[in-house]
Amino acid sequence: MTGQRKMVDWNTRTLEDSINHSTPRTRYVHVRKHARKIMDADPRKKQCEMCGFDAVIEVCHIKGIAEFTLDTTLGEINSPQNLMYLCPNHHAMMDKGILHGHITQLAE
Ligand SMILES: [Zn+2]
Repeated sequence: MTGQRKMVDWNTRTLEDSINHSTPRTRYVHVRKHARKIMDADPRKKQCEMCGFDAVIEVCHIKGIAEFTLDTTLGEINSPQNLMYLCPNHHAMMDKGILHGHITQLAE
């Protein structure tokens, strides 16, 4: 292996230890980066799970990052069951709470 840096096991990191304190906008940058890594390793199709759009997709947390307590590990927050691919439109709807009813139906 080349370029190996200090190994950080993000799965066992807590939310508190993962928060980026530089600006509010980048608060969860490490959490989101880890989420994308988890999804890269997941066999599911890289397309919006609501509409199938695949040109621009984002990794979305079904239970929002801010809803977890600070002692929760990233392994739990970023478990594949809590992540889904959404297009920017559906992600925006999800963040506004418009999608929640649909998501619950999918899970049932
Ligand atoms: Zn979509």
